[in-house]
Amino acid sequence: GIPVQEYLIRTARDFPDKTAIHFMGKEMSYRQLYESANKVAAYLQSLGIEKGDRVAIMLPNMPAGVISYFGVLIAGGIVVQTNPLYTERELEYQMKDSGAKAIIAFDLLYPRVSKIKGKTNLEHIIVTAIKDFLPFPKNLIYPFIQKKQNGIVVNVKHEGSNHLLTEILKQPQKRLTVHEFDFNEDLALLQYTGGTTGFPKGVMITHKNLVSNAAMCVAWLYKSKPGQEIVLGVLPFFHVYGMTTVMILSVLQAQKMVLIPKFDVDTILKTIEKQRPTLFPGAPTMYIGLLNHPDLMKYDLSSINACISGSAPLPVEVQQKFEELTGGSLVEGYGLTEASPVTHSNFLWDKKPVAGSIGVPYPSTDAKILSLETGEALPQGEIGELAVCGPQVMRGYWNRPEETEEVLKDGWLLTGDVGYMDEEGYFYIVDRKKDMIIAGGFNIYPREVEEILYEHPAVMEAAVAGIPDAYRGETVKAYIVLKEGHNVTEEELNEFARKHLAAYKVPRYYEFRKELPKTAVGKILRRSLVEEEKAKQN
Ligand code: ATP
Repeated sequence: GIPVQEYLIRTARDFPDKTAIHFMGKEMSYRQLYESANKVAAYLQSLGIEKGDRVAIMLPNMPAGVISYFGVLIAGGIVVQTNPLYTERELEYQMKDSGAKAIIAFDLLYPRVSKIKGKTNLEHIIVTAIKDFLPFPKNLIYPFIQKKQNGIVVNVKHEGSNHLLTEILKQPQKRLTVHEFDFNEDLALLQYTGGTTGFPKGVMITHKNLVSNAAMCVAWLYKSKPGQEIVLGVLPFFHVYGMTTVMILSVLQAQKMVLIPKFDVDTILKTIEKQRPTLFPGAPTMYIGLLNHPDLMKYDLSSINACISGSAPLPVEVQQKFEELTGGSLVEGYGLTEASPVTHSNFLWDKKPVAGSIGVPYPSTDAKILSLETGEALPQGEIGELAVCGPQVMRGYWNRPEETEEVLKDGWLLTGDVGYMDEEGYFYIVDRKKDMIIAGGFNIYPREVEEILYEHPAVMEAAVAGIPDAYRGETVKAYIVLKEGHNVTEEELNEFARKHLAAYKVPRYYEFRKELPKTAVGKILRRSLVEEEKAKQN
């Protein structure tokens, strides 16, 4: 195997003029991407970045993010992906935990980054602005950091920050030290877990993990030829899901990525119509958001051939409606940060997807279901914890041998998700182990209740969580976002739920909201709903 960055070298050699990136009306070829990444790499080395040093990237989806990512790897570093929405506290935690020596950050985030610099190992802050990309810009325009001095507009560097990315890209290529990589062992990435259920841990992802997972995605999409697809990059690249299924996959296959820096339904619809992407990896909330846009019918979405939905359960109704709308297929897959991330998917073309199922294990991936009590493997049909095994499974958690031992057993990764396998080998996720509600001694899986609520015609989004209850220990509460123009009362919703659910599963409380708290990939944060409730009760 060859390390991830070598794929960029290959693609730039074989398809130099193919568009790598489309961003806000501008395009960059694979050759330009490769040359830019090399310049960033040389610059990082000139700062003293050595093999194995961690370099953080804190950027929304924009060309500088892709350039920086490959720049860090070419320099020999390990990428630490940082969510641009992190608060000072979260950023400080991640920088300390990873020991990052440098960070490449979005211009606007500079104040936040510089505040925590002194408390961490960070030696260098490199900033970049949206405009930095415009391929090898002649006139630098920095909307946020221009200053007038004696009436003349000058570009001012942030005090204490290093060169702006653009300045690095303007320089001639400098000498690079080329490092040897151990494909199986060397880390490409520290990818912090989403933090949906707890504090984020640094997942150690090797070159082998990443390349294997992206190659599995390529095998899954076996009908697409190199350079043929246009991939919609709306999933954030700082999250492992978008990083692998959009960015790495595109680089391996010389596909064009269309970057969208922020999830915004209007922008996405317009971009699809204009750029005509063929692949659209996404999360259920994204498809739901698009389907509920009032002007949806005005847009032509027929370019879309294939969508893979992951990160949270895909409601069956959403799948059907989206397929009708685009004429392409939308299938559900499954993964987690610890597996780089994809382990399961439904078939895109060969077989009909099984509604409600996450599909079958990816090529070279094994899966089994373990008893929640004894940890023994269970026969088909029985419910237990899903365990997976394959070349995409992480090396462990960074500096956390105990937590690693809890989830990695003899090469098998315990996913923390509860599910089962049917007689045809399709897997189903029932819920997360940690989200199970225990109310009056009964086990309740929030997802089952949510699915019923989603069936109500007025409901756009539903989240169900176990909130503290003096009598039952925990009790079921539903948080509902209604579709525009729809109305329903608590009583009506409750009656609907009672028709479809055993009494103990029916929510005791309902709350209507305009929106629900979500993670970067649009996963509803049940945990923060529970925390809010606990805070209210205290
Ligand atoms: P943390 O691990 O810190 O709690 P997180 O779980 O959100 O955060 P990710 O690795 O981003 O971190 O998410 C992986 C999880 O997403 C899986 O363990 C699973 O619970 C959920 N998930 C992914 N795909 C699906 C799917 N198709 N159906 C149901 N759940 C899914």
